[in-house]
Amino acid sequence: MKVTITKQCMGDRNCNDLCPEVFAYDEDDLLSKVKVDPIPGHLENIVRQAADECGADAIIIEE
Ligand code: SF4
Repeated sequence: MKVTITKQCMGDRNCNDLCPEVFAYDEDDLLSKVKVDPIPGHLENIVRQAADECGADAIIIEE
């Protein structure tokens, strides 16, 4: 699984709270970033949850 975050991110950091192993907030760009590629298997389900919950639909998953 590969994950990217688009510029639609509104910076509420919900994904950071759900899975800090994968998502981190970039204070310079004012968006969240993905820290790991590929996503470790044991984190795939929580990453899918983060994408589902993202109010900006900014988390793009490639399986
Ligand atoms: S949940 Fe979505 S909008 Fe919120 S910080 Fe993460 S990518 Fe950005």
